[in-house]
Amino acid sequence: MEIHNQEPYVSAIILAAGKGTRMKAGINKQFLTLKGKPILAHTLIAFEKISAVDEIIAVISTDDYALFEKHILKKYRFSKVRAVPGGKIRQESAYRGLLAVNPKCQIVMFHDGARPLIDKKTILKCIEETKTHHATIVGVPAKNTIKVVDQHGKVSYTPDRRFLYEVQTPQTFDYDLILKAYRTAIEEDAPATDDATLVERIGHSVKIVTGHYSNLKITTSEDLMTASAIIGLKRQKTR
Ligand code: C5P
Repeated sequence: MEIHNQEPYVSAIILAAGKGTRMKAGINKQFLTLKGKPILAHTLIAFEKISAVDEIIAVISTDDYALFEKHILKKYRFSKVRAVPGGKIRQESAYRGLLAVNPKCQIVMFHDGARPLIDKKTILKCIEETKTHHATIVGVPAKNTIKVVDQHGKVSYTPDRRFLYEVQTPQTFDYDLILKAYRTAIEEDAPATDDATLVERIGHSVKIVTGHYSNLKITTSEDLMTASAIIGLKRQKTR
């Protein structure tokens, strides 16, 4: 007998197998310390704490695995986290994560390991909206005017800013839908820098979940300073 109103099985795939070379830190930026903890530990803790998230797949480069095990996995005693090896590009890492989820998985959330400031409300909103829309992506309205330029650096046109969103992660999908999108992209050799693009390619709509500007991706040392200031402010507010 089919049981209705049951909560879906949710798997979070945390992508952390990038090289992070733009930071020039000598190690993967996600192992750098932010307010006393590695960036990646902040990200994993955010998902571990949410009861609606059933499992967490951390996609880690084999070069970083020893560091991950010692400084993150064992130190913070996660109960939901499992690690799988990453690929050469983000898309390959995401697909490897997708193949490693529990067979019970119904909803998949992809999140960048380098976005440690993700908040509980946004994660829960992603899960809720995905139950209805099947494919959702966190975004914030563009603050700047964006120009589309040609290969000579000349402006081709200026899209109306009211319809522009800067997208972030989590990007959340029904498992069957995202698996189909990835398999089609592999067959057709279609590259993409995010997961939603692959779902758009197979003709499925993707709904924006409005998030926060503070959910930044730590790419440069300036981002690390900004993230540290934001955590400091949040802690002051909760005192
Ligand atoms: O390179 P980019 O900043 O777009 O990477 C976004 C996220 O994808 C990062 O958290 C990074 O660690 C991850 N990534 C990955 N495997 C790769 C490249 C990037 O897991 N081969």
